Amino acid sequence: MGLEHLDVLIVGAGLSGVGAGCHLQERCPGKTYAILEARGEVGGTWDLFRYPGIRSDSDMYTLGYRFRPWTEAKTIADGPSILDYVRQTARDHGIEEKIRFHHRVVRAEWSTAESRWTVEAERSDSGEAMRLTCGFLLVCSGYYRYDEGYTPDFEGVERFAGRIVHPQHWTDDVEYEGKRVVVIGSGATAVTLVPSLAERAAQVTMLQRSPTYIVSLPAEDPIANLLRRALPDRAVYPIVRWKNVLLQMLSFRLSRRRPDFVKKILRRGVERALPAGYDVDTHFKPRYDPWDQRLCLVPDGDLFEAICAGRAEVVTDEVAAFTENGIRLRSGAELEADLIVTATGLNLLFLGGMEVTVDGRRVEMSRAMTYKGMMLNDVPNFAFTLGYTNASWTLKVDLASEYVCRVLAHMDAHGYSQCVPETDPSIVEEPLIDFTAGYVLRSLDQLPKQGSQLPWRLRMNYALDLQALRFGAVDDGTMRFSSPAPPLQALERAAKV
Ligand SMILES: Cc1cc2nc3c(=O)[nH]c(=O)nc-3n(C[C@H](O)[C@H](O)[C@H](O)COP(=O)(O)OP(=O)(O)OC[C@H]3O[C@@H](n4cnc5c(N)ncnc54)[C@H](O)[C@@H]3O)c2cc1C
Repeated sequence: MGLEHLDVLIVGAGLSGVGAGCHLQERCPGKTYAILEARGEVGGTWDLFRYPGIRSDSDMYTLGYRFRPWTEAKTIADGPSILDYVRQTARDHGIEEKIRFHHRVVRAEWSTAESRWTVEAERSDSGEAMRLTCGFLLVCSGYYRYDEGYTPDFEGVERFAGRIVHPQHWTDDVEYEGKRVVVIGSGATAVTLVPSLAERAAQVTMLQRSPTYIVSLPAEDPIANLLRRALPDRAVYPIVRWKNVLLQMLSFRLSRRRPDFVKKILRRGVERALPAGYDVDTHFKPRYDPWDQRLCLVPDGDLFEAICAGRAEVVTDEVAAFTENGIRLRSGAELEADLIVTATGLNLLFLGGMEVTVDGRRVEMSRAMTYKGMMLNDVPNFAFTLGYTNASWTLKVDLASEYVCRVLAHMDAHGYSQCVPETDPSIVEEPLIDFTAGYVLRSLDQLPKQGSQLPWRLRMNYALDLQALRFGAVDDGTMRFSSPAPPLQALERAAKV
């Protein structure tokens, strides 16, 4: 018996995969498709992370899908509400029945002669392998390893008598009420955890090697709430979404052009939120320029409030070693702890670790080049979704899914069975992400490159991407469309008829 064949296969049922399913159903209603998901649940990131206080650090008007208004009062939303939003979208659009859970895709082999991918998945529930074929492969696997968060090799961890937990592996039985907690890290996860843990812990210390830019914003958007009194959600959503897109683009541009001016504004915000005489220089003056790494957002200044109330403190130092009672610092000081939370980051993983081959040749991801930030040179009928680092993830992944639908429609209209961005030898390679965050720097050598010019250049700009991906020509001279001669089997079949 032949393998099951689908027109499109989506990998991953997180925010991106569910969105991709919705776009595909609406824009290419005739296409058969399925979503293979490694885990047993919809929601990806928003289902995996369970640490106290888990929330978005961008506004839900841009983290939400273009086609589904965010209707809750809080624009910086908690994790469970975001998970509910993704699941409800999957339910309302009939996506759930398209998802095959516990299917981890491990390999995808493209055959030009057959114009199809053969995809192999491991069933994480039964251990069995399954294979199917598809005409187009859309990988929405996120960007990091699910099985293990990143923890540096700290000396003496085995000596520590308390519990050590990475936020990615937080479970309900982690006790912190009345305990002394040290959170190692200064990124979005650390600044989320600290005020939340401080509500019930005896004392919370955020131990950071170096400071991060932190901005306080209202958890509720007053303009959105005002508009909602007069207008329906459907009308308010695009207005507030565009307001936020433009504000974010402005803040990014200003940071790149006038970093000193932006530094001053950010510093003033921090100074105002902290007690007089607080050592801002040591704890809140980063060594890099704003947006060289993602800004950390704190809703209603909750982190600063916890510091002002004496429930949380920030220590800027380095871990020398774990001891039986806590952490010895490079400065020689000791931090006593019952619980240590290693908010030290993620392990980046491109394409969910899948092995990809084209006509038997393995695609070395580190040598590949991205086309429009969503396809790879010389890899046919293939796309992936990666969001912005300087704006909400969904802005880009929505556009990427729309673009895939446009490509599919173009191929149908012209009778093409293959599309491939063809290598241009005149393009110079550049690192994919111009970002100095640790998790990016650690993994740059495993990621594809971007090119020095369009359409190989990755643009971290929603307005320009919108122009290119929603309205730009699909047949742009770089993407080659073709209908190779039908495969031998098809010819044989035709001859028999
Ligand atoms: C704690 C945290 C907070 C964040 N907050 C924000 C925020 O506020 N704003 C923002 O823009 N971004 C944020 N991000 C980035 C965030 O990951 C994205 O916004 C978004 O949730 C990613 O969705 P996704 O579907 O692309 O990936 P994921 O959510 O990672 O989902 C990927 C799915 O693919 C599945 N998968 C992976 N590999 C395979 C495989 N080989 N086979 C089958 N299935 C596979 C996974 O099991 C998972 O279900 C945050 C990330 C984290 C970790």
